[in-house]
Formats: sequence, structure tokens, C-alpha cells
Amino acid sequence: MDERIAEMRDDPAVDLTVDGNAIGGMLATMFGVDVTGSPGQCAHCHTVSVVGTMRVYMRGPGVVVRCPACAQVVMRIVKTPTGTYLDVSGASFVRIAR
Ligand SMILES: [Zn+2]
Repeated sequence: MDERIAEMRDDPAVDLTVDGNAIGGMLATMFGVDVTGSPGQCAHCHTVSVVGTMRVYMRGPGVVVRCPACAQVVMRIVKTPTGTYLDVSGASFVRIAR
């Protein structure tokens, strides 16, 4: 067996991660368009990645979206009974096509 794959299976953080496509529907509801193909720039390392390739953690009380290059938080989404909080302070930009 590939040693690297075995290590990934043993890493609980990898098991909790999905890609940005998993929250495509949620983001489409918020933005009115599909943004999984939209580029966004990490404010920490300045890497530009499309939203669909970002690392998403969904098992907490909210959704955390991390940069695939440096793993810093790019976006956080928390739904409460009265509204949805969207924190994109970890992104320099997200470009939504017109
Ligand atoms: Zn980054």
C-alpha cells in the first residue's frame, strides 16, 4: 500500500475535509449564482484558487473554508435562527462572474 495514502487515512483532519463543491448549493443560495468555479485569493499567502478546490470543514457548528495551499481560513459561514454570517476576511477577493 502507498505509504502516503495510509498516512492520510490515519489523519482525522483529512477525514473531515471535503472540497468547495460540497458547499456549492449553500453558496449559490447566498450569492444567487454558482461560485464553485469562481477564483478567490487567500489573504495570507496570496494564492488564487477556485472556490471548488478549497478545503471545507463542515462538521463544526459552522462551515470553515481553508486555502488549499497554506491551510489558513479563507471563509467562515455560520447559520443562526435569525440569519447567516459570512466572514470572508481571510480572502483578498472572490471574483463572481457577471
Ligand atoms: Zn493561502
